[in-house]
Amino acid sequence: MTELAMTTTSAQPAAASAIPKASPPNEAQGSNAKDQDQAQTTPEKKIQIPKPKYRLHSEVLRHPESASFSIYIPDVASTLDTALSNIVKYLYTSPGDGSPEEATSAPKCERPHFIPFIPPTRSVTLFLRDFGGVAYTTGTELDDDHKEIHLSLPYITHCKNSAAKADPVHELTGVLTHELVHCYQHTSPPDSAKGGKDIPSPPGGVIEGIADFVRLKAGLSPPHWTRPTSSSQREKKWDAGYQHTAYFLAWIEDVWAGEGAIGMLNDRLYRVGYLGEDEKDCHEGGFWKSLFGAGVSELWDEYGQWLDDSEKPSEKTKGNWEEEIVNPL
Ligand SMILES: [Zn+2]
Repeated sequence: MTELAMTTTSAQPAAASAIPKASPPNEAQGSNAKDQDQAQTTPEKKIQIPKPKYRLHSEVLRHPESASFSIYIPDVASTLDTALSNIVKYLYTSPGDGSPEEATSAPKCERPHFIPFIPPTRSVTLFLRDFGGVAYTTGTELDDDHKEIHLSLPYITHCKNSAAKADPVHELTGVLTHELVHCYQHTSPPDSAKGGKDIPSPPGGVIEGIADFVRLKAGLSPPHWTRPTSSSQREKKWDAGYQHTAYFLAWIEDVWAGEGAIGMLNDRLYRVGYLGEDEKDCHEGGFWKSLFGAGVSELWDEYGQWLDDSEKPSEKTKGNWEEEIVNPL
């Protein structure tokens, strides 16, 4: 696959207005009974996987790829359900709430806990359309609880003819997983869009990086993705997005902090928002530092050092959580 894949876009993923009211930022660490009820979970129970309504809207039935799609993805609901399971596993499973094997294999020191709150997306409609690019996700005009994923039919042709000989089923499943993350990820606290609070949106690279983090973790990375093997191979900026940020986030989860780290990051976007990217701007330590004990620049440098000295990655596992991010149960 070519750089075309990099053009995957998302319009206002998981817009804040779709999310019920949450506690204000300075209370966000505390218990919020209302939100807990809506999260359909309890600390003792495994979180339930949502069951949204799925719809398929094929706009151009005479387009040859309309038939191809149904061959590659014959059971759209099953494919989306699998993607949703991965979203819950990698974004809505608190540290220590995974399988017993995972819970014992990851660093256990001072791991925090969060109460997952999944956006109340009620329906996802997949549009198969004739347009350039790959895919994008948007809310509907009337109600942002209803999402639309638009998939390009010409892109299916591209997959089939790709010089990299990408497996179209693998690729389309990966693209749909990426887009479904946009239907279920957090971007900002629910009331920040109303103008009452000055909470900046996270960089687009964070949103796209999280989507590709789930795709990566789900084993759906396309052939052209390559984990950098040295700091010089990285993109220059940590928020370059897509797979570049996804590999960085995976390093935070797998090496620096432990399982559930990116789920915690996603949860923090909902409960507090993207406040203080640079820790110097925020007396409470900034977004990244309060989560992982280091600012994002420092984390990016650590990631580079790890890439340069990755012969014994397991020895560098730190389980470096900050105690202060614990959400009391
Ligand atoms: Zn995207």
